[in-house]
Amino acid sequence: MVGGSRAVERCDALKRPPYSEAADMLFRPYLSAAHDATIAQLTAWMAEAGMAVRLDPAGNVVGRYESFIPPQLAGEGDRARMASGVVGADSCVSPPSGFAGVPPVNWGDMKSLIIASHIDSVRDGGAYDGPLGVMLGIEVVAALNAHNIRLPFAIEIYAFGDEEGSRFPASMLCSRAVCGQIDYSALDVADRDGVTLAAALESFGLNRETLLTARRDSSELIGYLEAHIEQGPVLEAEGLALGVVTSIACQKRFEVTVTGVAGHAGTNSMALRKDALTAGAEMVLGIEAVAQAGPEDLVATVGRMTVGPNAPNVVPGEVVFTIDVRAGTEAPRDQAADAILQQIQQIAAKRGTPASTRLIHDLPAAPCDKSMMEKLSRAVADVTGQAARPIVSGAGHDAMAFAGITPTAMLFIRCKDGISHNPLEAVDPADVDLAFRAMLAFVQDLGTTDE
Ligand SMILES: [Zn+2]
Repeated sequence: MVGGSRAVERCDALKRPPYSEAADMLFRPYLSAAHDATIAQLTAWMAEAGMAVRLDPAGNVVGRYESFIPPQLAGEGDRARMASGVVGADSCVSPPSGFAGVPPVNWGDMKSLIIASHIDSVRDGGAYDGPLGVMLGIEVVAALNAHNIRLPFAIEIYAFGDEEGSRFPASMLCSRAVCGQIDYSALDVADRDGVTLAAALESFGLNRETLLTARRDSSELIGYLEAHIEQGPVLEAEGLALGVVTSIACQKRFEVTVTGVAGHAGTNSMALRKDALTAGAEMVLGIEAVAQAGPEDLVATVGRMTVGPNAPNVVPGEVVFTIDVRAGTEAPRDQAADAILQQIQQIAAKRGTPASTRLIHDLPAAPCDKSMMEKLSRAVADVTGQAARPIVSGAGHDAMAFAGITPTAMLFIRCKDGISHNPLEAVDPADVDLAFRAMLAFVQDLGTTDE
């Protein structure tokens, strides 16, 4: 069995120990024993597919499938390897469990297409969020290798160790390290048990000082492709197996503090009280209304609210809540955010409960590359017989980091009921096989039309 079915089967195989930290659910945090076991298994699968495999300084498993190198373009190192008939063989490092040390590697002169996703999971997560993209990349290389096809660029499959941030308070640590979008101060973190990132890296034979040398230069790359389950209900609702991502949504997050007057629930008459929670409730409904009136890709969420003093017999004196606003582009997001903040002040004034707002997070949109998107759409239309559905990703992905350094494309795969971050996460192997075939057509198209 190969292609989409095998990709699904392999994700399923990684659901339980030793690839999960718990026997009754999937939990695979960065630099855990489950991560270590997964690295060993992926190394075997990548090698079997025809790749040279290494563990990079950030703990990412990287499999490289060499290009066909035209002799006139080859550098000296490439020519020597070609003369000896072992192109790429000297860059083969197979990291066993507890791999120690990161040797300098000469990857040759030819550029690479990176196909990637993450292999960490949230606690009690689903089997496909992340690993499916990695398994599909391996299937693409296995198919090329089985037919002895070499492209004018190398393919590198990256399995990122951390995307979810489910162990350390820093998400997308691994892809951001590869893209040079992180600094050493961000590595000064510890998990819930007090284990520092530095100590966790050491247990993998890695270290904090060299982690940032996982960085790849944009001059080494021709692009980045990531396949991922949609994690939403759009494709299923429209009866489509695949969607082509146009952009990863920009986000703004605010913290709002509403100040009322705490008082006895029995003695404060309704006319005189200044209830911070009822004011907050009106604000939450206003936020929902602003988002509902906007374009399809605009979403706004109040996901956390704390009430003070939070007692059954006290009129709430203070409410603190968060607002998360996202859209495919900055303009509708900023327009919605402005409308929301204005409305909050109007409600605060009307109720005599002052509200202060603070911007706590501002992430720009990560647009996908137009030319890559067109090629991927063509491949999707060819294999599905339907026009490719453009779709904005409301969730963040590793592709966001890469959009800053190389042309990026993302393929979405329909998932059951839009469910993700949940053990009920499910995909249809037939859909995954369409994704596999579209990706295979896409990389071959890239090989014939440019570079
Ligand atoms: Zn994911």
